[in-house]
Amino acid sequence: MSGSALPMTVPAAGLPARVRVHEVGARDGLQNEGTTVPTAVKAEFAHRLAAAGLDTVEATSFVRPEWVPQLADAEELYPLLADLARAGVRLPVLVPNARGLERALALGADRVAVFASATESFAKANLNRTVDESLAVFAPVVERAKEAGCHVRGYLSMCFGDPWEGAVPVERVVRVARALLGMGCDELSLGDTIGVATPGHVTELLSALNTAGVRTDRIGVHFHDTYGQALSNTLAALQHGVTTVDASAGGLGGCPFAKSATGNLATEDLVWMLRGLGIETGVDLDALVTTSRWMAGHLGRPSPSRTVRALGPA
Ligand code: MG
Repeated sequence: MSGSALPMTVPAAGLPARVRVHEVGARDGLQNEGTTVPTAVKAEFAHRLAAAGLDTVEATSFVRPEWVPQLADAEELYPLLADLARAGVRLPVLVPNARGLERALALGADRVAVFASATESFAKANLNRTVDESLAVFAPVVERAKEAGCHVRGYLSMCFGDPWEGAVPVERVVRVARALLGMGCDELSLGDTIGVATPGHVTELLSALNTAGVRTDRIGVHFHDTYGQALSNTLAALQHGVTTVDASAGGLGGCPFAKSATGNLATEDLVWMLRGLGIETGVDLDALVTTSRWMAGHLGRPSPSRTVRALGPA
């Protein structure tokens, strides 16, 4: 198959009419690639993603440059995206702490994300804090971001399993999720950081969150395809009413801090399924595939996305 093949559209009952794809390739993707991409290439990447119809393009991370050298150019990159912001493209940025938030605000960022863990082991490994210590760090960051008028997303990692602790009880995820919303986060992104979730587990966690008072419209899902379950899990989330799905163009990135993690759900694979179900995304699949091939050239390796590979020569 090649060129502009698209799946036949056959709607299924009980699914949303439209899904917002939260594109994470430029941040979560590139921060986990071995090759550091020049700033101008990142800027072109964001522009190409937006031109392909993605209205939410997570742009970069204001972490300390020595922690994530791949994204050390956040200060240089963000201003190169000003035309996209003016055009209404959402450009969230990750802020790990108060200093990162101030750097982002100084550049005019109006959508930020904080990154919490559902498990103690990952909080320790990734943030060097306990879960409660990390929440105590985020609370004033979220408060300040809200005061500054920002939309705040709360990433919650290890929602389904942890490489050190194994299975993660849903009650633990619910506790941290409620804490993030309680401090003012507008939206949660439930991360399956090591890709071990299966559809029933997804439904169980979403139901537990609802029971605890968390509305489904506050929840996004962030699946990894480590065990080939990302789309199955996405479908379970859609059946539960979730309408925000994180994905990474071309399947860029994984997580260097999590043992055995492989890539994010590829945006192309997601869009292929949604297109087949007749669910609107606004994304031009051909333009996106072309963009991911172009980025794969810069990274020096083919895209792991099944759809990118199926749609023609690399
Ligand atoms: Mg990810």
